[in-house]
Amino acid sequence: MSFDYQIAVIGGGSGGLTVAAGAASFGAKVALIERKPHLGGDCLHYGCMPSKALIQAAKEVFETSKYQQLTDVDYDRLFEGAMNRVEEAVKDVQDHDSKDRFVELGIDLFEAEAFFEDEHTLRVGDRRITAKRFVVSTGSSPFIPPINGVDTVDYLTNETIFSLRKRPRSMVVIGGGIIGVELSHAMSRLGVEVTVLEGGDKILSNEDGEITDIAQRSITKELHVLTNATADRIDPFEEGVKVSYTKDGVQNVIQADRLLIATGRKANIESLNLEQAGVEVSNGSINVDSSLKTSQKHIFAVGDCNGSMPFTHVAGMEGKIAVSNAVLGLSRKASYEKIPWVVYTSPEIYHLGLTEQEAREKYGDDLLTFKTKLSNNDRFMAERNTEGLVKVLTTNRGKIVGAHAIGAGAGEWMQEVGTVQALNKKFQAISNIIHPYPARNNVISQTADLYWREKLFGSRLNDIIRWYVKKLR
Ligand SMILES: Cc1cc2nc3c(=O)[nH]c(=O)nc-3n(C[C@H](O)[C@H](O)[C@H](O)COP(=O)(O)OP(=O)(O)OC[C@H]3O[C@@H](n4cnc5c(N)ncnc54)[C@H](O)[C@@H]3O)c2cc1C
Repeated sequence: MSFDYQIAVIGGGSGGLTVAAGAASFGAKVALIERKPHLGGDCLHYGCMPSKALIQAAKEVFETSKYQQLTDVDYDRLFEGAMNRVEEAVKDVQDHDSKDRFVELGIDLFEAEAFFEDEHTLRVGDRRITAKRFVVSTGSSPFIPPINGVDTVDYLTNETIFSLRKRPRSMVVIGGGIIGVELSHAMSRLGVEVTVLEGGDKILSNEDGEITDIAQRSITKELHVLTNATADRIDPFEEGVKVSYTKDGVQNVIQADRLLIATGRKANIESLNLEQAGVEVSNGSINVDSSLKTSQKHIFAVGDCNGSMPFTHVAGMEGKIAVSNAVLGLSRKASYEKIPWVVYTSPEIYHLGLTEQEAREKYGDDLLTFKTKLSNNDRFMAERNTEGLVKVLTTNRGKIVGAHAIGAGAGEWMQEVGTVQALNKKFQAISNIIHPYPARNNVISQTADLYWREKLFGSRLNDIIRWYVKKLR
C-alpha cells in the first residue's frame, strides 16, 4: 500500500515540533497537523513562556514595592504593563516557531483538527491523509472539576488568565499544585489579594516534604493559603464570584473578583477517535510502552497526552526518542529517572528524582542524606538571602537518587547535580570540581564535602590516617 506520508504528526506543540523537525531532517516525508492558527502549543501560548514572563514582571513590581509605597493606581498601571510584556514575550518566541520555518524544512502543514478514520487514515478538516506511521502529540488542557455551579461563572484558567488587562482586586485560586502556586504568587505580587484553596494538607505536594514546608512558610508571607480546603459550590456574586468551601470539616464562604481554576490537566484525546485506530487508553491518557509505541506499533504518543511527566523538556526528550524509533527504526527507550523540574516561585524549587520519603522506602538504611542550609553559605549570607536548603540523597556509595533545593535561583545552580547524575558520576565527585568563589553553586560543593566528612571522620580509615600522620610524618 502506498501512503501520502511516511510520518504524520498530530499537534504542533513542544513534542510535535521536535518530531516533525527531526523527521524532516532525516529526509522523511512529513505532515504536521495543528488545530490552532499558531504553532508552539501550550508551553508557548498558555504555559511556560507567558507564566515565566509574568513571574519576572511581578518580581520587578515586588522589588519596587519594597522601596516605594505603591498606590492602587500604580498597581493598575503596573498590572496592565506586566500583561502587555507577557504578550510581547510570547510574540518574540513565536517567531522562532513560525510556520515558515517548518515549511522551509519541507514539512506539509495542515491547519485543522485531526481524527482517525482507521489505523492509517486521518480526517483533517475536509481532507483525508494517509501515513505509514503517526506520532500523536496533542498535549493537555485544564481539568475542570465538577464543582456545583462552576459553569455559572466566568472562571479563568491558564488559557485565559494571560488575556487579563484590568487588575482584579482579589482572586480565589482552586488548586495548590505548580501551576496554581506559580500563578498565584505572580498575581499577588501584582497587587491582587490571592487566596489559594488546596484540598490536601500541603501545597506543592509532589515536592520533598521539607522543601514544601519552607516553600509554604515563605509563600504564605505574600498570599493566603487554605489547606485541607475543598470547594463545594461556586456562584456568581455581584461583579465577581462566591466560593463555598469546607475546611477541616467546617463550611465557609469566600468572595473575590475572579476565580482561577488550576486543578490539574487532562489529555487532549477526546476528539481523536482513537478507537477507530485501535489505540488503547487508560486513566484518560494514551497507553505507551517505553519506546513510546501505543498499542498500535506504528502509532507513537509523546508529551502530555501520554500521561508521563507534564513538562516541555519531557515532551522534547520523548519527541527525540519517537523520531529515532519511528523514522530510523531504532528501539530507544524513554527513561524518567534523571529528569529534573523547577517550580518558578520565589524562592525557586529544584526537584530531581526521589523525595526523601520515597528514597527511604526504596533504599532503607543504604540511604545517605546531605543537607546545607543557605544560611550557612557565604554567598547567600552576603546577599542577605538565606532562606532555603539544599538536600541531596545518595546511596551509601554516592549514587545520586534525589536532589532538592529551595533558594534564590535554585533552578539554575542546582542543575549541576543533575548533570553529574546524568554523566553517571558519584555525588562526591563534585568535591573535586573547583567552583569560583563565591558563586551560588559553592553551596553544592559544600554539600558534596559532607559526603567525605561522613565517610572519613569516625571511620577506621580516619584512625589509620591519624596514626600515619602521627607516627610516620
Ligand atoms: C501555566 C503552565 C505553566 C507551565 N510551565 C512549564 C515550565 O515552566 N516548564 C515546563 O517544562 N513545562 C511547563 N508547563 C507544561 C508544558 O506547557 C507542557 O508540558 C508542554 O506544553 C507539553 O507539550 P505537548 O507537545 O505535549 O503539548 P502542547 O505543547 O500543548 O501541544 C499540543 C498541540 O496539539 C494541538 N492539538 C490537540 N489536539 C489536536 C487535534 N486533534 N488535531 C490537531 N491539533 C491538535 C494543540 O492545539 C496544541 O497546539 C506549563 C504548563 C502550564 C499550563
